[in-house]
Amino acid sequence: MANEMKTVKGKGASGGLAKGRLYFYKRQQASVSKERCFSKAEELEKLRLAIDRAAEELEALERETEATLGKSEAEVFLIHRMMLADGEFLSALEGYLDEGYSAEYAALQGSRDLASLLAASEDEYMKAREADVRDVGDRILTALSGGRRQLLPKGARGVILCADDLTPGETVTLEKGRVVAFITARGSGNSHTAILARSMGIPAIYGVGDELFTLPEGEEALVNGSDGALVIHPDEKTVAAFQQGEREAAQYRIFLESARGKRVFAPSGREILVYGNIAGSKEAADVVAADGGGVGLFRSEFLYLGRSEPPSEEEQYLAYKEALLTLGGRRVVIRTLDIGADKQAPYLGLASEENPALGLRGIRLCLEEQSIFRRQLRALLRASVYGRLAILFPMIASRFEILQAKEILKEEAEGLEREGIPFSYDIEVGIMIETPAAALISESLAAEVDFFSIGTNDLSQYTLAVDRQNPMAAAFFDPHHEAILKLVRMTVENAHKAGIWVGICGELAADPTLTEYFRTLEVDELSVVPCEILPLKARLLS
Ligand code: PEP
Ligand code: MG
Repeated sequence: MANEMKTVKGKGASGGLAKGRLYFYKRQQASVSKERCFSKAEELEKLRLAIDRAAEELEALERETEATLGKSEAEVFLIHRMMLADGEFLSALEGYLDEGYSAEYAALQGSRDLASLLAASEDEYMKAREADVRDVGDRILTALSGGRRQLLPKGARGVILCADDLTPGETVTLEKGRVVAFITARGSGNSHTAILARSMGIPAIYGVGDELFTLPEGEEALVNGSDGALVIHPDEKTVAAFQQGEREAAQYRIFLESARGKRVFAPSGREILVYGNIAGSKEAADVVAADGGGVGLFRSEFLYLGRSEPPSEEEQYLAYKEALLTLGGRRVVIRTLDIGADKQAPYLGLASEENPALGLRGIRLCLEEQSIFRRQLRALLRASVYGRLAILFPMIASRFEILQAKEILKEEAEGLEREGIPFSYDIEVGIMIETPAAALISESLAAEVDFFSIGTNDLSQYTLAVDRQNPMAAAFFDPHHEAILKLVRMTVENAHKAGIWVGICGELAADPTLTEYFRTLEVDELSVVPCEILPLKARLLS
């Protein structure tokens, strides 16, 4: 039947409901002939000029995105620029020039070769970079043809954009308001594109498969980004359910607003603070806008990623100062560098490890490579005069690590004092409880610090001996495991016995099935991504 309802399913990458018309993204691929050329020097010059132009475009995109969406969203363009400057990337392209092919063919084929290599990688992160390499290759091709990329038809509105995969560059150039959702046949929930979709608040579905291309262009469709369903020719019942979903979403938004400005208390009367997790100073404003009482976790290592050298003391000082000023006197917990394991900074030149999650990670690296640590602590101390700073040391397993870290902090404070540089004398110092060892000896560790912050992501990984990054073992990664909840309870009780406050900043803090448990356990603070702050507050209040 011509107008029979049809549902295609993928995986939800960004939640929400949308109604619009299907539009299939047609990449403006320059036609590239495989013809051989006579002058390698000429082709190389053309390629170099195109790469420079692509790099300029990326720089502009980075600036624009940082201004509109934030620093972490803009980071992808920095990564693309680094790809352009990367020796491996260039030699993949130049290899084709050596064989006598044109600059266009070299850009197309060289980037495809690298993309295929990444697609075959077993590492989920590397796999997700395939779209980035294709994007960079396309950008060079467009620059070679002197053209601009056109994503949407002129004047089109209410577009459900369908594509094989969308690159991050394509995603951010979408005009919000014209595109109401996007659907990709392939892609991954871990890709920059999915991350950008979530921060833009556009429903997105990935992994629909080739069935996507059997759907008629221009057809009206309903999208549910939460359950990954795309429906065309919806029957009355489906339309009614969709409309009901929209009404409920609107009511839910109103209900969430009712939690704004309210304080939350445990049954005993102890206040429970709801804070936000951030990865950069620009996101501090999101915490304030979402009614967060403070920042519970500033993952400072993101300042160190996606670049070719470590951030200077000055750069860090400015970032921490900005976060503290934005929070206007509310507590900002900044975690010192937690690099290692899945977060690598190649410029540090660290030896590769067989088990990086069990290796020189977090505080261990900082104690071994003290110059990096000391530079960060100086920046933190200098920034501390602008607000209410708390410093958090990650990956603690033993008491001596805290003592050494505190000693180094003291030495840096004394250094500033000698130089006459002001800093606050009222900085709280805490530790992440994210190793089973730290939870088990939390009673004695509590005597050394002002607070604990429980990192349930790593606590689950290390307690259950399940790699949090490994999709093959995902079924065994159970943060509700009795062992984890027992360690959380033990940590909270030991903190309270010692008279210090304790928070949770791992993903479990936002888990709706545990909200009541944490409230009755009297966890002092729960720190979640900014968009989860109001939902969590609303649950705690109800
Ligand atoms: C954690 O381990 O729970 C945590 C909050 O830290 P990260 O996820 O950055 O390792
Ligand atoms: Mg952790």
